[in-house]
Amino acid sequence: MKARRFLLALKGMGVQYLLLEGKGGSSLEELFEKVKGCRRCKLWQGRTHVVFGEGDLKARIMFVGEAPGEEEDRLGRPFVGRAGRLLDELMERAGLKRQEVYIANVLKCRPPSNRDPEEDEIEACKEYLFAQIAIIKPKVIVTLGRYALRVLSGGEEKITMVRGSLREHMGSKLVPTYHPSFLLRNERKMVEAIEDIRKARELLLTR
Ligand code: URA
Ligand code: SF4
Repeated sequence: MKARRFLLALKGMGVQYLLLEGKGGSSLEELFEKVKGCRRCKLWQGRTHVVFGEGDLKARIMFVGEAPGEEEDRLGRPFVGRAGRLLDELMERAGLKRQEVYIANVLKCRPPSNRDPEEDEIEACKEYLFAQIAIIKPKVIVTLGRYALRVLSGGEEKITMVRGSLREHMGSKLVPTYHPSFLLRNERKMVEAIEDIRKARELLLTR
């Protein structure tokens, strides 16, 4: 099939590979089309690209971050800046490859100067994340930082208190851990994050 070969070539060049077939592939594609033009909160005004999410559409494990940063906004891909490189390394050290996971954020557009997400923005955007999860149906979700945890489990607890513990969201197991940007400033916590991600990976082996 020509189209598929073309998309695989794009994937090889590092271009978004959302359009590949997979479980729920076409509905993710439809959702992406919808989000591309989204103006549901004020963040649309400052964006270069919507950062929808990317990865294996059949992923059994999903990572959820906070919001795109400068590099992500420029390229339209999640976790491709400094924090992203660290995330790649953490995954690798936990025995996971980026190609086998799906990565998305709570917010799909970059907040100005990378400030924290605001309540109205989260409210406006969270439905897209829920829809992504409903389509991909990952067995395990690793939440990176407090916003992803808050949106998916409703908890307000500190990450330090809950990291590595188990929650649930719509049938997926949630494993909260630190956000990679935090880890860039607190390198000693990296071992804990690797432990959490390894634990998430091991959950894939359970029933
Ligand atoms: N931080 C995030 O939370 N998400 C990204 O995509 C990049 C940095
Ligand atoms: Fe829409 Fe989310 Fe972007 Fe706000 S952050 S404009 S809700 S896609």
